[in-house]
Amino acid sequence: MKAEIQRAEKLNMIGELAASIAHEVRNPLTVVKGFLQLMERDSTNSSKQYIPLVLSELGRAESIISDYLNFAKPEFRKMETFHAVEFLHDLVLLLNPLALKNGVVVEEAFKKNPVLYTDKSQLKQALVNMVKNAIEANEQGGYVSIQLDADEEHAFIVIKDTGKGMTAEQLGRIGTLFYTTKEKGTGLGTMVSLRIIESMGGSVQYESKEGEGTVVLIRLPAAESRKKEPIAEKELVYS
Ligand code: ADP
Ligand code: MG
Repeated sequence: MKAEIQRAEKLNMIGELAASIAHEVRNPLTVVKGFLQLMERDSTNSSKQYIPLVLSELGRAESIISDYLNFAKPEFRKMETFHAVEFLHDLVLLLNPLALKNGVVVEEAFKKNPVLYTDKSQLKQALVNMVKNAIEANEQGGYVSIQLDADEEHAFIVIKDTGKGMTAEQLGRIGTLFYTTKEKGTGLGTMVSLRIIESMGGSVQYESKEGEGTVVLIRLPAAESRKKEPIAEKELVYS
């Protein structure tokens, strides 16, 4: 028990530190990116050929920071009441460019429209990471389907893809820090998503078959049951 508390304290400290570093580093990155984009348009010299590479490395740094910032602080700053259908529809619109680029079709299959009460941007981050993975797991011509259902107390969101799937061994490693099979992966996305959903009092389950695809089952508390039971401080602490 004592060791557990110490571990939670340590994680919190690392989290605080990571958040402040991430915050400080993000500003200069944004400035450098802006200048590079200007130079890409204007410059005529031969070093121009390196700009796309530098920009892509900067993009990578940015995505590590945004993943890590969330890992560091899954704080629910802005609690809102909203409908899941509109929220998920916006999410699909947001990720459509990535889907188009990969030749993947994202389908919506919404059966009910539960009301949620949580931090919208945190939930968005959690689902973006998962839907991105579903899109990236597919080859051209693949499908991702986003399903939504509900009972009295929960919303059920399912993200299903027709991608490469995972072996039992890979499935066992998903969500662990820095686990990635991608050349340019960070291995942070799933871990962040799981942390966020769990902090919201929800749960996530993965089912996958190599060569066939993956199903991510997400259960979230619906607004009414949530309001009766305000978020306790301890739920926000990692242990
Ligand atoms: P990253 O996407 O940067 O690799 P993630 O934490 O998001 O990091 O995912 C970790 C790994 O889990 C991925 O590299 C991939 O191997 C596996 N994975 C996650 N989602 C899926 C999926 N829908 N289908 C197949 N593999 C997946
Ligand atoms: Mg990912």
